[in-house]
Amino acid sequence: MRVFLFLFAALTLLASSACSPKSRTPVIPTVDYELTYDLHIKNGTIVDGTGAPKFSGDVLINDTIIVFVGTVDSQKIRASKTIDATNKIVAPGFIDAHAHGNPLAGNNDYMRSFLRQGVTTVFLGQDGSSSNGKIKFSQWVDDVNAHGSGPNIATLVGHGSLRAISGGGEKDKVSAAEQTKMEALLTEAMQQGAYGMSTGLEYLPGRYADAEELNGLAKVVGEYDGLISSHIRSEDDDKVKEAVDEVIAQGKYAKVNVTHIKVVYGKTRAQGEAVLKQIRDARAQGMTITADVYPYLASYGSMIYLYPEWAKRESEFNEAVKTRRPEFETFLRAKIKRRNGADAILISKGEYAGKTLQEVADILDKPPEQVIIEFGHSGPSTAHFIMTKDTQDVFITAPDVSISSDGSPTMRHPRSYGSFPKVLEEYVVRDELLPIELAIHKMTGLTANTFGLSSRGILAKDMAADILVIDLANVKAGTGWGNINAVPSGFDAVIVNGRVTDTVASSGADVYGQVLLKTRGD
Ligand SMILES: [Zn+2]
Repeated sequence: MRVFLFLFAALTLLASSACSPKSRTPVIPTVDYELTYDLHIKNGTIVDGTGAPKFSGDVLINDTIIVFVGTVDSQKIRASKTIDATNKIVAPGFIDAHAHGNPLAGNNDYMRSFLRQGVTTVFLGQDGSSSNGKIKFSQWVDDVNAHGSGPNIATLVGHGSLRAISGGGEKDKVSAAEQTKMEALLTEAMQQGAYGMSTGLEYLPGRYADAEELNGLAKVVGEYDGLISSHIRSEDDDKVKEAVDEVIAQGKYAKVNVTHIKVVYGKTRAQGEAVLKQIRDARAQGMTITADVYPYLASYGSMIYLYPEWAKRESEFNEAVKTRRPEFETFLRAKIKRRNGADAILISKGEYAGKTLQEVADILDKPPEQVIIEFGHSGPSTAHFIMTKDTQDVFITAPDVSISSDGSPTMRHPRSYGSFPKVLEEYVVRDELLPIELAIHKMTGLTANTFGLSSRGILAKDMAADILVIDLANVKAGTGWGNINAVPSGFDAVIVNGRVTDTVASSGADVYGQVLLKTRGD
Protein backbone atom coordinates (compact mmCIF):
# COMPACT_ATOMS: atom_id res chain seq x y z
CA MET A 1 0.00 0.00 0.00
CA ARG A 2 2.99 2.28 0.52
CA VAL A 3 3.86 1.58 -3.06
CA PHE A 4 0.25 2.10 -3.96
CA LEU A 5 0.10 5.42 -2.11
CA PHE A 6 3.18 6.52 -3.95
CA LEU A 7 1.63 5.51 -7.25
CA PHE A 8 -1.58 7.23 -6.27
CA ALA A 9 0.36 10.40 -5.50
CA ALA A 10 2.26 10.14 -8.75
CA LEU A 11 -0.93 9.61 -10.76
CA THR A 12 -2.53 12.48 -8.92
CA LEU A 13 0.37 14.69 -9.82
CA LEU A 14 0.09 13.64 -13.45
CA ALA A 15 -3.64 14.20 -13.39
CA SER A 16 -3.38 17.59 -11.78
CA SER A 17 -0.68 18.79 -14.15
CA ALA A 18 -2.61 17.47 -17.15
CA CYS A 19 -5.73 19.21 -15.92
CA SER A 20 -4.17 22.42 -14.65
CA PRO A 21 -6.21 25.50 -15.46
CA LYS A 22 -3.78 26.47 -18.24
CA SER A 23 -4.22 23.29 -20.23
CA ARG A 24 -7.98 23.54 -19.85
CA THR A 25 -8.53 26.75 -21.75
CA PRO A 26 -10.56 25.09 -24.54
CA VAL A 27 -13.28 24.29 -22.03
CA ILE A 28 -14.41 27.92 -22.04
CA PRO A 29 -14.84 29.01 -25.63
CA THR A 30 -14.29 32.71 -26.02
CA VAL A 31 -17.20 33.21 -28.41
CA ASP A 32 -19.93 31.19 -26.76
CA TYR A 33 -21.65 33.55 -24.34
CA GLU A 34 -24.58 31.16 -24.02
CA LEU A 35 -22.57 28.49 -22.21
CA THR A 36 -24.75 27.74 -19.20
CA TYR A 37 -24.33 25.67 -16.11
CA ASP A 38 -26.60 24.65 -13.27
CA LEU A 39 -24.20 25.64 -10.52
CA HIS A 40 -21.05 27.74 -10.41
CA ILE A 41 -18.87 27.74 -7.28
CA LYS A 42 -16.49 30.62 -7.84
CA ASN A 43 -13.22 31.94 -6.40
CA GLY A 44 -12.72 29.06 -3.97
CA THR A 45 -9.60 27.46 -2.55
CA ILE A 46 -9.87 23.99 -4.00
CA VAL A 47 -8.70 21.06 -1.90
CA ASP A 48 -9.45 18.24 -4.28
CA GLY A 49 -9.31 15.19 -1.98
CA THR A 50 -6.24 13.59 -3.56
CA GLY A 51 -3.84 15.15 -1.06
CA ALA A 52 -2.45 17.44 -3.78
CA PRO A 53 -1.69 21.09 -2.87
CA LYS A 54 -4.69 23.41 -2.74
CA PHE A 55 -5.22 25.91 -5.56
CA SER A 56 -7.56 28.77 -6.41
CA GLY A 57 -10.34 28.04 -8.81
CA ASP A 58 -13.95 27.46 -9.73
CA VAL A 59 -16.15 24.42 -10.02
CA LEU A 60 -18.92 24.05 -12.59
CA ILE A 61 -21.72 21.56 -12.20
CA ASN A 62 -24.38 20.33 -14.56
CA ASP A 63 -27.15 18.22 -13.12
CA THR A 64 -25.41 15.75 -10.75
CA ILE A 65 -21.92 15.87 -12.25
CA ILE A 66 -18.85 18.09 -11.96
CA VAL A 67 -18.09 19.28 -15.48
CA PHE A 68 -15.15 21.57 -14.81
CA VAL A 69 -12.59 22.37 -12.10
CA GLY A 70 -10.20 25.21 -12.84
CA THR A 71 -10.21 28.90 -13.66
CA VAL A 72 -13.37 30.35 -15.12
CA ASP A 73 -13.99 33.77 -16.61
CA SER A 74 -17.32 34.54 -14.96
CA GLN A 75 -18.13 37.06 -17.69
CA LYS A 76 -18.25 34.34 -20.27
CA ILE A 77 -20.57 31.83 -18.73
CA ARG A 78 -24.02 31.80 -17.21
CA ALA A 79 -25.07 29.72 -14.24
CA SER A 80 -28.53 29.15 -12.80
CA LYS A 81 -26.99 29.42 -9.35
CA THR A 82 -23.68 30.85 -8.18
CA ILE A 83 -21.96 30.37 -4.84
CA ASP A 84 -19.19 32.83 -4.02
CA ALA A 85 -16.48 30.81 -2.25
CA THR A 86 -13.98 33.62 -1.80
CA ASN A 87 -11.74 32.75 1.18
CA LYS A 88 -13.52 29.40 1.53
CA ILE A 89 -12.31 25.85 1.02
CA VAL A 90 -14.08 23.92 -1.73
CA ALA A 91 -13.70 20.18 -1.12
CA PRO A 92 -15.35 16.89 -2.02
CA GLY A 93 -18.16 15.85 0.32
CA PHE A 94 -16.89 13.73 3.19
CA ILE A 95 -17.27 9.97 3.09
CA ASP A 96 -17.92 8.34 6.45
CA ALA A 97 -16.15 4.97 6.51
CA HIS A 98 -18.15 3.70 9.50
CA ALA A 99 -21.63 5.02 10.19
CA HIS A 100 -24.80 3.76 11.82
CA GLY A 101 -28.44 4.70 11.54
CA ASN A 102 -31.53 3.67 9.67
CA PRO A 103 -32.44 5.96 6.79
CA LEU A 104 -36.00 4.55 6.84
CA ALA A 105 -36.64 5.40 10.51
CA GLY A 106 -38.63 8.57 11.16
CA ASN A 107 -36.45 9.67 14.07
CA ASN A 108 -33.34 9.52 11.89
CA ASP A 109 -34.49 12.67 10.03
CA TYR A 110 -33.19 11.49 6.65
CA MET A 111 -29.73 11.11 8.23
CA ARG A 112 -29.29 14.91 8.23
CA SER A 113 -26.94 14.74 11.26
CA PHE A 114 -24.31 13.57 8.79
CA LEU A 115 -24.93 16.42 6.33
CA ARG A 116 -24.43 18.93 9.15
CA GLN A 117 -20.84 17.77 9.55
CA GLY A 118 -20.13 17.72 5.82
CA VAL A 119 -20.70 14.01 5.26
CA THR A 120 -22.33 13.36 1.88
CA THR A 121 -21.86 9.57 1.78
CA VAL A 122 -22.10 7.11 4.67
CA PHE A 123 -21.08 3.47 4.80
CA LEU A 124 -23.67 1.53 6.79
CA GLY A 125 -24.01 -2.16 7.64
CA GLN A 126 -21.15 -2.06 10.15
CA ASP A 127 -19.94 -4.27 13.00
CA GLY A 128 -21.52 -7.41 11.58
CA SER A 129 -25.01 -5.99 11.30
CA SER A 130 -26.65 -5.50 7.87
CA SER A 131 -28.57 -2.28 7.36
CA ASN A 132 -31.20 -4.23 5.43
CA GLY A 133 -31.72 -6.50 8.45
CA LYS A 134 -33.58 -9.56 7.25
CA ILE A 135 -35.19 -8.05 4.17
CA LYS A 136 -33.74 -8.72 0.75
CA PHE A 137 -30.88 -6.40 -0.18
CA SER A 138 -32.48 -5.23 -3.43
CA GLN A 139 -35.77 -4.54 -1.64
CA TRP A 140 -33.99 -2.40 0.95
CA VAL A 141 -32.26 -0.41 -1.80
CA ASP A 142 -35.67 0.32 -3.39
CA ASP A 143 -37.17 1.26 -0.02
CA VAL A 144 -34.38 3.71 0.85
CA ASN A 145 -34.47 5.33 -2.58
CA ALA A 146 -38.25 5.70 -2.34
CA HIS A 147 -38.04 7.18 1.17
CA GLY A 148 -35.13 9.51 0.47
CA SER A 149 -31.94 10.29 2.36
CA GLY A 150 -29.82 13.36 3.03
CA PRO A 151 -26.44 11.78 2.33
CA ASN A 152 -25.79 9.00 -0.15
CA ILE A 153 -25.96 5.56 1.40
CA ALA A 154 -23.54 2.75 0.65
CA THR A 155 -23.55 -0.44 2.62
CA LEU A 156 -21.76 -3.56 3.70
CA VAL A 157 -23.36 -6.92 4.45
CA GLY A 158 -23.19 -7.81 8.14
CA HIS A 159 -21.60 -11.15 8.97
CA GLY A 160 -23.74 -11.49 12.10
CA SER A 161 -26.87 -10.88 10.04
CA LEU A 162 -25.81 -13.58 7.58
CA ARG A 163 -25.43 -15.95 10.53
CA ALA A 164 -28.86 -15.04 11.88
CA ILE A 165 -30.64 -15.50 8.54
CA SER A 166 -28.83 -18.75 7.78
CA GLY A 167 -29.77 -20.34 11.07
CA GLY A 168 -26.24 -20.16 12.52
CA GLY A 169 -27.35 -17.73 15.21
CA GLU A 170 -25.05 -17.80 18.23
CA LYS A 171 -23.80 -21.35 17.69
CA ASP A 172 -20.17 -22.08 18.47
CA LYS A 173 -19.77 -23.57 15.02
CA VAL A 174 -22.03 -23.17 12.00
CA SER A 175 -22.93 -26.28 10.02
CA ALA A 176 -21.78 -26.86 6.46
CA ALA A 177 -25.30 -26.14 5.24
CA GLU A 178 -25.41 -22.87 7.19
CA GLN A 179 -22.02 -21.86 5.79
CA THR A 180 -23.24 -22.54 2.26
CA LYS A 181 -26.36 -20.48 2.89
CA MET A 182 -24.31 -17.58 4.27
CA GLU A 183 -22.04 -17.62 1.25
CA ALA A 184 -25.03 -17.70 -1.12
CA LEU A 185 -26.69 -14.74 0.62
CA LEU A 186 -23.44 -12.81 0.56
CA THR A 187 -22.94 -13.58 -3.14
CA GLU A 188 -26.44 -12.31 -3.90
CA ALA A 189 -25.90 -9.03 -2.02
CA MET A 190 -22.49 -8.50 -3.64
CA GLN A 191 -24.10 -9.02 -7.05
CA GLN A 192 -26.75 -6.46 -6.14
CA GLY A 193 -24.25 -3.76 -5.17
CA ALA A 194 -23.01 -4.21 -1.60
CA TYR A 195 -19.44 -2.96 -1.09
CA GLY A 196 -18.35 -5.91 1.00
CA MET A 197 -18.91 -7.45 4.41
CA SER A 198 -18.53 -6.17 7.95
CA THR A 199 -17.60 -8.29 10.93
CA GLY A 200 -18.17 -7.59 14.62
CA LEU A 201 -15.87 -10.17 16.13
CA GLU A 202 -16.07 -8.69 19.62
CA TYR A 203 -19.85 -8.98 19.60
CA LEU A 204 -22.46 -11.69 19.49
CA PRO A 205 -22.57 -13.69 17.27
CA GLY A 206 -19.36 -12.60 15.49
CA ARG A 207 -17.20 -13.78 18.38
CA TYR A 208 -18.14 -17.39 17.65
CA ALA A 209 -16.89 -17.28 14.05
CA ASP A 210 -13.71 -19.24 13.39
CA ALA A 211 -11.16 -18.94 10.59
CA GLU A 212 -12.89 -21.50 8.39
CA GLU A 213 -16.16 -19.57 8.49
CA LEU A 214 -14.54 -16.16 7.99
CA ASN A 215 -12.20 -17.29 5.23
CA GLY A 216 -15.06 -18.90 3.30
CA LEU A 217 -16.93 -15.59 3.34
CA ALA A 218 -13.76 -13.60 2.62
CA LYS A 219 -13.34 -15.58 -0.59
CA VAL A 220 -16.79 -14.47 -1.75
CA VAL A 221 -16.02 -10.84 -0.91
CA GLY A 222 -12.70 -11.08 -2.74
CA GLU A 223 -14.33 -12.56 -5.81
CA TYR A 224 -16.34 -9.35 -6.16
CA ASP A 225 -13.37 -7.13 -5.26
CA GLY A 226 -15.21 -6.06 -2.12
CA LEU A 227 -13.91 -5.01 1.28
CA ILE A 228 -14.08 -6.71 4.67
CA SER A 229 -14.33 -4.02 7.33
CA SER A 230 -13.74 -5.54 10.72
CA HIS A 231 -14.54 -4.55 14.26
CA ILE A 232 -11.73 -6.76 15.46
CA ARG A 233 -11.96 -9.49 18.10
CA SER A 234 -10.39 -7.35 20.81
CA GLU A 235 -9.13 -3.78 20.89
CA ASP A 236 -7.51 -4.20 24.32
CA ASP A 237 -3.82 -3.27 24.52
CA ASP A 238 -2.72 -6.85 25.25
CA LYS A 239 -4.91 -8.50 22.56
CA VAL A 240 -5.02 -6.01 19.71
CA LYS A 241 -1.97 -7.46 17.93
CA GLU A 242 -3.47 -10.93 17.73
CA ALA A 243 -6.81 -9.44 16.63
CA VAL A 244 -5.22 -7.45 13.80
CA ASP A 245 -3.38 -10.62 12.75
CA GLU A 246 -6.75 -12.31 12.35
CA VAL A 247 -7.84 -9.56 9.92
CA ILE A 248 -4.54 -9.88 8.08
CA ALA A 249 -5.26 -13.59 7.65
CA GLN A 250 -8.52 -12.73 5.81
CA GLY A 251 -6.54 -10.24 3.74
CA LYS A 252 -5.24 -13.21 1.82
CA TYR A 253 -8.67 -13.45 0.18
CA ALA A 254 -10.07 -9.90 0.09
CA LYS A 255 -9.28 -6.26 0.80
CA VAL A 256 -9.49 -5.71 4.55
CA ASN A 257 -10.04 -2.70 6.81
CA VAL A 258 -9.52 -2.38 10.56
CA THR A 259 -12.44 -0.17 11.47
CA HIS A 260 -12.54 2.41 14.30
CA ILE A 261 -8.95 1.48 15.07
CA LYS A 262 -7.99 1.99 18.68
CA VAL A 263 -5.91 0.66 21.55
CA VAL A 264 -8.18 0.25 24.55
CA TYR A 265 -6.20 1.18 27.71
CA GLY A 266 -3.48 2.59 25.43
CA LYS A 267 -1.37 5.21 27.13
CA THR A 268 1.54 5.95 24.80
CA ARG A 269 2.22 6.91 21.19
CA ALA A 270 4.32 3.77 20.86
CA GLN A 271 1.24 1.57 21.35
CA GLY A 272 -0.51 3.29 18.44
CA GLU A 273 2.61 3.16 16.31
CA ALA A 274 3.00 -0.58 16.90
CA VAL A 275 -0.48 -1.32 15.52
CA LEU A 276 0.06 0.99 12.58
CA LYS A 277 3.36 -0.72 11.81
CA GLN A 278 1.67 -4.11 11.87
CA ILE A 279 -0.80 -2.87 9.24
CA ARG A 280 1.87 -1.19 7.13
CA ASP A 281 4.06 -4.29 7.23
CA ALA A 282 1.17 -6.38 5.90
CA ARG A 283 0.65 -3.77 3.19
CA ALA A 284 4.31 -3.88 2.28
CA GLN A 285 3.85 -7.63 1.73
CA GLY A 286 1.31 -6.76 -0.96
CA MET A 287 -1.92 -6.95 1.00
CA THR A 288 -4.63 -4.32 0.60
CA ILE A 289 -5.25 -3.37 4.22
CA THR A 290 -6.54 -0.06 5.53
CA ALA A 291 -8.00 1.47 8.70
CA ASP A 292 -10.34 4.21 9.85
CA VAL A 293 -10.61 6.13 13.12
CA TYR A 294 -13.01 8.48 14.93
CA PRO A 295 -11.53 11.39 16.87
CA TYR A 296 -12.92 10.73 20.37
CA LEU A 297 -11.55 8.95 23.42
CA ALA A 298 -14.71 7.12 24.46
CA SER A 299 -16.07 4.02 22.79
CA TYR A 300 -19.77 3.22 22.77
CA GLY A 301 -21.71 0.02 23.09
CA SER A 302 -23.42 -2.32 25.44
CA MET A 303 -22.38 -3.61 28.85
CA ILE A 304 -21.47 -6.96 27.27
CA TYR A 305 -17.85 -5.73 26.98
CA LEU A 306 -17.63 -6.10 30.75
CA TYR A 307 -18.82 -9.69 31.03
CA PRO A 308 -16.60 -12.76 31.34
CA GLU A 309 -16.43 -15.31 28.52
CA TRP A 310 -18.88 -17.51 30.40
CA ALA A 311 -21.60 -14.86 30.62
CA LYS A 312 -21.64 -13.29 27.15
CA ARG A 313 -24.72 -15.01 25.73
CA GLU A 314 -28.03 -14.07 27.34
CA SER A 315 -28.60 -17.64 28.55
CA GLU A 316 -25.09 -17.74 30.02
CA PHE A 317 -25.60 -14.37 31.71
CA ASN A 318 -28.84 -15.51 33.34
CA GLU A 319 -27.23 -18.77 34.44
CA ALA A 320 -24.22 -16.94 35.91
CA VAL A 321 -26.50 -14.60 37.88
CA LYS A 322 -28.33 -17.61 39.27
CA THR A 323 -25.45 -19.96 40.03
CA ARG A 324 -22.16 -17.99 40.12
CA ARG A 325 -23.19 -14.53 41.28
CA PRO A 326 -20.31 -13.84 43.74
CA GLU A 327 -17.76 -14.91 41.13
CA PHE A 328 -19.57 -12.84 38.47
CA GLU A 329 -19.53 -9.77 40.74
CA THR A 330 -15.84 -10.19 41.53
CA PHE A 331 -15.08 -10.40 37.81
CA LEU A 332 -17.14 -7.29 37.05
CA ARG A 333 -15.51 -5.34 39.90
CA ALA A 334 -12.04 -6.07 38.48
CA LYS A 335 -13.16 -5.33 34.93
CA ILE A 336 -14.69 -1.97 35.89
CA LYS A 337 -11.44 -1.06 37.61
CA ARG A 338 -9.49 -2.11 34.49
CA ARG A 339 -11.79 0.09 32.38
CA ASN A 340 -10.84 3.19 34.38
CA GLY A 341 -13.52 2.83 37.05
CA ALA A 342 -17.26 3.35 37.29
CA ASP A 343 -16.79 7.09 36.63
CA ALA A 344 -15.48 6.25 33.15
CA ILE A 345 -18.69 4.47 32.11
CA LEU A 346 -21.43 6.87 31.01
CA ILE A 347 -25.00 5.58 30.63
CA SER A 348 -26.41 6.90 27.36
CA LYS A 349 -29.91 5.47 27.10
CA GLY A 350 -32.91 4.90 29.33
CA GLU A 351 -33.77 6.13 32.79
CA TYR A 352 -30.19 7.03 33.74
CA ALA A 353 -29.07 8.62 30.47
CA GLY A 354 -26.33 11.17 31.11
CA LYS A 355 -25.21 9.66 34.43
CA THR A 356 -22.06 7.67 35.08
CA LEU A 357 -22.26 4.15 36.41
CA GLN A 358 -20.82 5.47 39.69
CA GLU A 359 -23.56 8.09 39.92
CA VAL A 360 -26.23 5.45 39.35
CA ALA A 361 -24.57 3.24 41.98
CA ASP A 362 -24.67 6.14 44.43
CA ILE A 363 -28.34 6.86 43.70
CA LEU A 364 -29.29 3.21 44.14
CA ASP A 365 -26.87 2.78 47.04
CA LYS A 366 -25.40 -0.39 45.56
CA PRO A 367 -21.96 -1.32 44.24
CA PRO A 368 -21.56 -0.75 40.46
CA GLU A 369 -21.25 -4.48 39.71
CA GLN A 370 -24.66 -5.11 41.24
CA VAL A 371 -26.15 -2.28 39.23
CA ILE A 372 -24.84 -3.89 36.04
CA ILE A 373 -26.27 -7.29 36.91
CA GLU A 374 -29.64 -5.77 37.71
CA PHE A 375 -29.72 -3.91 34.39
CA GLY A 376 -29.89 -7.37 32.78
CA HIS A 377 -28.03 -8.92 29.88
CA SER A 378 -27.93 -6.19 27.23
CA GLY A 379 -28.23 -3.31 29.69
CA PRO A 380 -28.39 0.32 28.55
CA SER A 381 -26.04 1.65 25.85
CA THR A 382 -22.95 3.17 27.40
CA ALA A 383 -19.92 5.27 26.53
CA HIS A 384 -16.63 3.94 27.86
CA PHE A 385 -13.73 6.34 28.41
CA ILE A 386 -10.96 3.89 27.72
CA MET A 387 -8.61 5.61 25.26
CA THR A 388 -5.93 8.30 25.53
CA LYS A 389 -5.10 11.13 23.17
CA ASP A 390 -1.44 10.18 22.89
CA THR A 391 -2.26 6.78 21.45
CA GLN A 392 -5.26 7.76 19.31
CA ASP A 393 -3.55 10.82 17.78
CA VAL A 394 -1.19 8.43 16.02
CA PHE A 395 -4.15 7.13 14.00
CA ILE A 396 -5.96 10.45 13.66
CA THR A 397 -2.89 12.08 12.09
CA ALA A 398 -1.65 9.09 10.03
CA PRO A 399 -1.76 9.79 6.27
CA ASP A 400 -3.10 6.30 5.56
CA VAL A 401 -5.97 6.12 8.08
CA SER A 402 -9.43 7.40 7.04
CA ILE A 403 -11.71 9.44 9.29
CA SER A 404 -15.02 7.91 10.30
CA SER A 405 -17.67 8.79 12.88
CA ASP A 406 -19.05 5.46 14.10
CA GLY A 407 -22.02 7.67 14.94
CA SER A 408 -25.70 7.63 14.15
CA PRO A 409 -28.51 10.19 14.09
CA THR A 410 -29.73 8.90 17.45
CA MET A 411 -26.57 7.82 19.27
CA ARG A 412 -25.79 9.87 22.39
CA HIS A 413 -22.12 10.32 21.68
CA PRO A 414 -20.58 13.53 20.29
CA ARG A 415 -18.88 11.49 17.58
CA SER A 416 -22.32 11.19 15.97
CA TYR A 417 -22.47 14.91 15.30
CA GLY A 418 -18.95 16.28 15.40
CA SER A 419 -16.33 13.81 14.15
CA PHE A 420 -15.43 15.53 10.89
CA PRO A 421 -15.52 19.17 12.08
CA LYS A 422 -13.56 18.16 15.21
CA VAL A 423 -10.65 17.00 13.06
CA LEU A 424 -10.70 20.26 11.09
CA GLU A 425 -11.13 22.44 14.18
CA GLU A 426 -8.57 20.77 16.42
CA TYR A 427 -6.07 18.94 14.23
CA VAL A 428 -5.91 21.31 11.24
CA VAL A 429 -6.62 24.79 12.64
CA ARG A 430 -5.83 24.72 16.37
CA ASP A 431 -2.93 22.30 16.70
CA GLU A 432 -1.67 22.28 13.10
CA LEU A 433 -1.03 18.54 13.25
CA LEU A 434 -2.59 17.94 9.83
CA PRO A 435 -2.27 20.04 6.67
CA ILE A 436 -5.71 20.78 5.24
CA GLU A 437 -4.95 18.78 2.09
CA LEU A 438 -4.15 15.65 4.09
CA ALA A 439 -7.10 16.06 6.47
CA ILE A 440 -9.51 16.36 3.53
CA HIS A 441 -7.84 13.40 1.79
CA LYS A 442 -8.42 11.26 4.92
CA MET A 443 -12.11 12.21 4.77
CA THR A 444 -12.61 11.77 1.01
CA GLY A 445 -10.24 10.34 -1.59
CA LEU A 446 -8.57 7.87 0.75
CA THR A 447 -11.90 6.50 1.93
CA ALA A 448 -13.31 6.28 -1.60
CA ASN A 449 -10.24 4.32 -2.60
CA THR A 450 -10.58 1.97 0.38
CA PHE A 451 -14.14 1.02 -0.56
CA GLY A 452 -13.71 1.11 -4.33
CA LEU A 453 -16.08 4.06 -4.67
CA SER A 454 -14.91 5.33 -8.03
CA SER A 455 -17.28 8.23 -8.71
CA ARG A 456 -16.78 10.14 -5.46
CA GLY A 457 -14.13 11.44 -3.07
CA ILE A 458 -12.23 13.61 -5.54
CA LEU A 459 -13.11 17.01 -6.93
CA ALA A 460 -12.54 16.55 -10.64
CA LYS A 461 -14.32 16.56 -13.97
CA ASP A 462 -16.86 13.75 -14.43
CA MET A 463 -17.05 12.96 -10.71
CA ALA A 464 -20.36 13.10 -8.84
CA ALA A 465 -21.09 16.61 -7.57
CA ASP A 466 -20.86 15.98 -3.81
CA ILE A 467 -19.16 19.19 -2.72
CA LEU A 468 -18.57 21.27 0.41
CA VAL A 469 -17.93 24.96 0.79
CA ILE A 470 -16.12 25.29 4.11
CA ASP A 471 -15.33 28.40 6.11
CA LEU A 472 -12.33 26.74 7.74
CA ALA A 473 -11.55 29.42 10.32
CA ASN A 474 -15.10 29.11 11.62
CA VAL A 475 -15.42 25.34 11.70
CA LYS A 476 -16.53 24.29 15.17
CA ALA A 477 -17.74 20.84 16.10
CA GLY A 478 -19.83 22.44 18.86
CA THR A 479 -20.86 19.11 20.30
CA GLY A 480 -19.53 17.72 23.57
CA TRP A 481 -20.70 15.45 26.36
CA GLY A 482 -22.79 18.25 27.87
CA ASN A 483 -24.43 19.34 24.58
CA ILE A 484 -24.31 16.32 22.37
CA ASN A 485 -26.71 17.46 19.64
CA ALA A 486 -25.12 20.89 19.07
CA VAL A 487 -24.91 21.72 15.37
CA PRO A 488 -21.42 22.18 13.90
CA SER A 489 -20.61 25.47 12.19
CA GLY A 490 -18.43 26.38 9.23
CA PHE A 491 -20.13 24.34 6.52
CA ASP A 492 -21.50 27.09 4.27
CA ALA A 493 -22.81 24.74 1.59
CA VAL A 494 -23.29 20.99 1.55
CA ILE A 495 -23.99 19.80 -1.97
CA VAL A 496 -25.23 16.27 -2.66
CA ASN A 497 -25.57 15.08 -6.23
CA GLY A 498 -25.38 18.65 -7.50
CA ARG A 499 -28.08 20.04 -5.21
CA VAL A 500 -27.50 22.36 -2.29
CA THR A 501 -29.04 20.65 0.73
CA ASP A 502 -30.88 22.18 3.61
CA THR A 503 -29.16 20.58 6.57
CA VAL A 504 -31.71 21.65 9.17
CA ALA A 505 -35.13 21.40 7.48
CA SER A 506 -37.30 18.60 8.70
CA SER A 507 -39.16 17.62 5.55
CA GLY A 508 -37.97 15.06 3.07
CA ALA A 509 -38.55 17.28 0.06
CA ASP A 510 -34.99 18.52 -0.08
CA VAL A 511 -32.98 15.33 0.33
CA TYR A 512 -30.87 14.33 -2.61
CA GLY A 513 -28.89 11.29 -1.49
CA GLN A 514 -29.29 7.92 -3.13
CA VAL A 515 -28.18 4.37 -2.49
CA LEU A 516 -24.80 3.82 -4.12
CA LEU A 517 -24.23 0.40 -5.61
CA LYS A 518 -20.88 -1.14 -6.25
CA THR A 519 -20.50 -2.16 -9.84
CA ARG A 520 -18.28 -5.08 -10.76
CA GLY A 521 -14.91 -3.98 -11.96
CA ASP A 522 -15.53 -0.62 -10.28
ZN1 LIG B 1 -17.70 -1.28 16.05
